[in-house]
Parts: sequence; structure tokens; C-alpha cells
Amino acid sequence: MTREDCLALDAVDPLAGHRALFEVPPGVIYLDGNSLGVLPKAVPARLAKVVADEWGRDLIRSWNTAGWIDLPAKVGAKIAPLIGAYPDEVIACDSTSVNLFKLAAGALALRPDRHVIVTEPGNFPSDLYILQGLADLKPGLEIRVTPRAELAAALDESVALLLLTEVHYKTGELHDMAALSAKAHEVGALTLWDLSHSAGALPVDLTASGADLAVGCGYKYLNGGPGAPAFAYVARRHQGTFKSPLTGWMGHAQPFAFDDDYLPGMGMARLLCGTPQVLNMSALDAALSVFEGIDMGMVRAKSMALGDLFLTLVQDRCDGLTPACPLGGAQRGSQVALRHPNGYAIVQALIDRGVIGDFRAPDILRFGLTPLYIGFADVWDAVDHLAQIMATEAWREPRYAEVAAVT
Ligand SMILES: *Cc1c(COP(=O)(O)O)cnc(C)c1O
Repeated sequence: MTREDCLALDAVDPLAGHRALFEVPPGVIYLDGNSLGVLPKAVPARLAKVVADEWGRDLIRSWNTAGWIDLPAKVGAKIAPLIGAYPDEVIACDSTSVNLFKLAAGALALRPDRHVIVTEPGNFPSDLYILQGLADLKPGLEIRVTPRAELAAALDESVALLLLTEVHYKTGELHDMAALSAKAHEVGALTLWDLSHSAGALPVDLTASGADLAVGCGYKYLNGGPGAPAFAYVARRHQGTFKSPLTGWMGHAQPFAFDDDYLPGMGMARLLCGTPQVLNMSALDAALSVFEGIDMGMVRAKSMALGDLFLTLVQDRCDGLTPACPLGGAQRGSQVALRHPNGYAIVQALIDRGVIGDFRAPDILRFGLTPLYIGFADVWDAVDHLAQIMATEAWREPRYAEVAAVT
């Protein structure tokens, strides 16, 4: 594969036009959209309007006149088709970590006679930490941390919940959501899927896979901006009985009745806790416009092709890097991961050359492939830089070893 071949692929790529919807900075090949998505062009104007008109001029009236109060449900409904959910099954609110807490605790309340949550080691830290915090609050709760190959065997009738991240944040390995949900249901357990690396990256069908609960991130493949609200999903069949442990006023059936006693709101409204983050939520709302009319099957096909290209070029041109992700596109999310003991310095050397990926301890170089704004020639150029850095050992420069607060 030559650079010309890649340019030819870009020329016939049906998604190539979507790049114009994003502010991709000149001179940058951005392979970190799995950590913070690129700014969609629709966002700055929307934010300016929200700040100047809705906040600055109309002030508190905007809760009604600009529909601020409806944003969590409206944004949730926009996310729903990307994850195979009905519009009234998704709400945008809080962070992924907080939503994990609400849904895991809510799942335990739906299975009061069970005392086990099954999850896997090496998951994103919050997913494990939140369960550890929950265990402190719930004496007798067992967090059964089980390697991926043994998950099905760990499910028995003591299990209330199976919590997994569909696409592993480091290795990009993909779980079979339908098969594992079916296994969990066989023993009467519920499932909670973290879609942080799935939503906006690959087709997800929560309904067809029988998922009970899900959470996901607004600032990765959904491009909602730093600290964007996350989303929560509760299947319709559980909404009537689901109880959030964070019983804030916004989740009340009538927030403006100012009653002393909590009464959960209808449907997903009960997942809300406090006042919506209007600025961030407006940015996410505008950002989601890039998915209008998009065929996620097409996004997936391009994502797998970009990943295959990346891995083939690395194998042909870069010594010393071993794949840490599945080689088969169908088993991989929308990222590739490589392993090297000096991974941190190599990533810094790449960033210095305008190729932005990231490093995940202890030795993973991670490259997100976002088909809406990354093309085949971008991948070729990125690996070209990587090959030069490996061949010249440019990563040995001492400045590349300095570790910043955020990696
Ligand atoms: C990014 C990510 C989160 C992020 O949680 P925040 O509360 O937004 O910091 C949680 N889980 C997974 C699997 C993630 O990839």
C-alpha cells in the first residue's frame, strides 16, 4: 500500500465529506478522538448564542423559552438511534462515572435477593472504583472481578449484575454484547454496558442485544467537548421499577412542586439528579448534528479498514512495536493499540510531529480512528512519522520522557 493508494481510497470514500463538519486543526493528524473528539463546526455558534442570548439576555426565562429544561431528554433522544435504543430510553446527564453509580446501585435494588456484581479486571478505572465505593456502602456486596475468558462461568444465581465495557479502553477488544447479555439473563442477572468507546464509533443495538442498562461518554466519539454530559439508558421494561440512589430534585415527578417527599419522575426523568449543565449540554446537542443521516454500518466499515491499514503499515515499516489489539477488525473497536516499553516517549515524539495519539500505562500506545474526520492518507502519514521515530530512535530525546499530569 502506497500513499497514492491511500489518496485513491480517500477520493472514493463516501464519508470523506464529513470532515468539513469539523475544525480539524491544520498540521495535525488527530488520533485521539477516543479520548476527546474534535470540535464540530456547529458548536461555537451554538455556544455563542446560548451565552449571549439565552443566558446573557433572556436569563432565567430560558429554562422555558429556550427549552433548557428539556435538554437532557432531547439530547438523550438524539443519542438513542446511535445505540439502538428508543428515544425515551436515553437521557443525557452527569458524568459516566456518576451514571455508573446510579445504574449499578439501581440494578442491585431490582435484584434485592442477590449480592454479586460480575465485572472484568483491567476495565477503565472508574468502572471498577465506582463498584468498590458501592461495596463500601452495601455490606455483603461481592465484586466478582473475573477475567474475560471466564465471565460466562462466573455467572450464577447469586449475580445481580454483569457490568462490562463493550470496547476495552486500552486494547480495543470488543465483547459480544448479545451473547453475554443472554448468558446473564439465563441466570436472572441484569446487564450494564459501558458504551464509552462504542457510542458514535460503531453500530450498537441495545434493544436487539437485550441489554438492560447502559452508560456512555459524551466527549469521546460523540464530540461533545471536554467534560460533556454522559448518557444513561434504562430499557423500557425496567423504567417503572428502576430507582436511582441519587434522588435529587430534578428526578422528582414534579420538581417545581417543592414537596418534602421524593417521588420518582416518569421514565428516564428519574435518572436526573441536579440541574442540567446547560452550556456543556448545548455543545453536545449541537455536536450530535454530525450524525444526522449517518449510516453507522458505513462508519464501521471505514473504521475497520483504517485499523487494518494502520496495523499492516506498522507491521511492514516499524520495528519493535507489537499489536496490543485484536488483528481482526470485527473483534476490535475503533482504535488500534500497540505495545512498547518506551511507549510514553514514542507518543510524545509523535505529538511533537503533529500526530496526536495517547499513552496508557504501563506500555500501550493508543490511536483512535474516527472515520468522520480521519482518512486513509492520514493513517499513512501517521505511520510514516512513527516509522521514522522508530528508525531514528528520535524518542530517546530526554524531553520526551517528561511526564505531564494528563497522559
Ligand atoms: C472515558 C471513560 C469513562 C469516563 O468517565 P468520566 O466520568 O467521564 O470521567 C468511564 N468509563 C469508560 C470505560 C471510559 O472509557
